[in-house]
This record gives sequence, C-alpha cells and structure tokens, in this order.
Amino acid sequence: MSDGLTALPMRDRFGRRIDYLRISVTDKCNLRCVYCMPVEGLPWIPREELLTDDEIVRVVREFAALGTRRLRITGGEPTVRPGLAELVRRLAAVPGIEDIALSTNGVLLPKMAAELRAAGVRRVNISLDTLREDRFERIARRPARVYREIREGIEAAEAAGFDPVKINVVVLRGWNDDEIEDFAALTRERPWHVRFIELMPTGANLEIVDAFISADEILARVRALGTLEPVPGPLGNGPARYYAFPGAPGTVGVITPLSHTYCMRCNRVRLLADGQLRTCLFGTHQVDLRTPLRAGRPLGPVILDALAEKPERHYLQLGSDVGSGGLLALSQTGG
Ligand code: SAM
Ligand code: SF4
Repeated sequence: MSDGLTALPMRDRFGRRIDYLRISVTDKCNLRCVYCMPVEGLPWIPREELLTDDEIVRVVREFAALGTRRLRITGGEPTVRPGLAELVRRLAAVPGIEDIALSTNGVLLPKMAAELRAAGVRRVNISLDTLREDRFERIARRPARVYREIREGIEAAEAAGFDPVKINVVVLRGWNDDEIEDFAALTRERPWHVRFIELMPTGANLEIVDAFISADEILARVRALGTLEPVPGPLGNGPARYYAFPGAPGTVGVITPLSHTYCMRCNRVRLLADGQLRTCLFGTHQVDLRTPLRAGRPLGPVILDALAEKPERHYLQLGSDVGSGGLLALSQTGG
C-alpha cells in the first residue's frame, strides 16, 4: 500500500468490511429520467450547504485514514459540478485511495472523458435506458440530440481508456423492456458490461411503480437468446450478479434490490452533497459530517459512530416508498 498506510478497512457491527465510499458531488442533473427526478426538479440543496472541494477532500482523507480504498463519484449528475476533474485529481492524490470510479448519464462525456481519465477516474458506469433515439425523450424528458451526445459519450469513454465501461439500464415494463434482448446481444459484439437494474420505488416515482420487472424475468428473456454462464464480473463488482454468453467480450449483469437482497455483502456508505453520511441507501439513518467539519473537529470518531448504526438491511417494498427511507429520488443519494 502507498505511503505506508496501515489502517484496516472499517467493519460494522455485522462484520461487514466497509472500504468503499460513494460521494454524491451534486444533487442537480441535466436529465429528468422518469424513474428518478420529476420534470420540475426537486428542492435543491442550498449552495451554502453543499460541501466545497476542500471539504470533500478532507472527508476523504479521514475515510482513507480509516481504511477506505475505493471511491465512486456520483450525483445527481456529477459532471455538472464545476471543476469536477480538478476535484478528482485531488481525491486521487489522497494517500490510501487506490481506485476512483464515476457514475454518469454520459451527456458531458464527449467533452470530459479524456480529462476525467487523466485526473484519475479509472472506471465508468454510464446510464443508457434505450438504444432507440425516438424513445429517449419519453424516458429522459430531454430532446433526441441529447441522446446522440450520450452515445458519443460512450464512444469517448472507450477511447479515453476507462476499463471497464459498464452500461446501466433501468428496465421498465412498457417503456424499454422490449429492448432487453437488444442490450444483451450487444455484449456479444462489444466489451460492454450491461447491467439491468430493477426499478426501486422512491417518493417521486410512485406513478410508474407498476413498470417494475424482476431480474428473474429479465434473465429468462436473455436466456432465450442462448446459453448464459455465471461469471465473476468486471472489476468493481458490487451488488450485481454477472453472466456471459460463451466467447462474448462483454457481460450481462442484474442488480436486484427488490427481488434478492444483497445487503449481507454491503461494503459501502454514502456521502451526500450536503455532507450527510448515509449508512444505507434506503435507511433513515444518516449523520451530519458538515457541522463537525466546519467546526474543525476530527471526523474519525463521528464516522465510526455512524458505522456502528449501519442497518443490517434495507426494507424496500414493491410498489411503495415506505421502505425507501424518505427518499424522493436516487439523485439525492447518488444511487
Ligand atoms: N446521474 C448519474 C446516472 O444516471 O448514472 C448518477 C446518479 S443515478 C441516481 C445512479 C444510478 O441510479 C443510475 O444508473 C440510474 O439509472 C439509477 N437509478 C436512479 N433512480 C432509480 C430507481 N428509482 N430505480 C433504479 N435505478 C435508479
Ligand atoms: Fe439524472 Fe441520473 Fe437521476 Fe437520470 S438517473 S435523472 S441522469 S440523476
């Protein structure tokens, strides 16, 4: 390990090793995906409550000293935060940080992919819910030209050398589920890791909860195309389960927050854009890091106390936001 750091990864009271921090760098977004953010947007975090670059770097230093090795930069849409590449460059220089990944909708990647790669982002997850330009407007509530930018963004990510490139597809019955086979077939041609995500109910998407389609059904449709073998999956393997067609350069993954719980393998906590530390994506438990940070107090004890309260599992339920911990949208936590 670099710089002689010896901190062991933190463990929570269930023995889970927590070495992964997801950082939401903004709650804003340049898309309005129908399953995520309402067209009119959400009540945005006031500017003075957002963590500055200096503050995010300080939080990450404290986490790294406690054994955190991997970061994911997310949002809202992280690329709309001014100066993101410079922030990444600073985070990559924090002793102990070994891996930085990015979750993005890809819109700004044609302009930013190369500088983000050079700044230290190694891996990228890009959301792409349709392969059909004419559908994009209905799903993302933005014009078709934005779709073309995303497709260019995926090319730019490949050209910039991100490895792996993962494509996240939220599957919605009646919206894009007839494209499951097309997405899966792409993994036979391209080194894409296509991950189908089950729709998670939150306060802002209850009108479409009927569009839920389970990973079992998704996989059954993919299997109709040919033999699928379970595979270990690409680097950064988190909650997804991966499969591949024999000889295919890419993989097919499923993320199953509702139909199968993966909480026993949870290795992460989330820093929100306003400095709240959320110990479970769908838990009500969160701890304010901004106040001690701005008061100049050490964060280590606060982080360890928060971890001691990390819930054993989430209680998300099909068709209801009761178990979503008061979340309006995943854009508030970074997913
Ligand atoms: N804006 C970036 C993006 O779209 O990739 C990062 C933030 S977004 C909240 C992270 C991931 O959560 C995306 O893959 C998105 O498709 C997914 N997501 C958002 N809302 C969701 C929901 N209600 N159910 C399932 N996945 C969701
Ligand atoms: Fe924006 Fe990502 Fe939410 Fe879509 S899923 S509205 S791109 S934050």
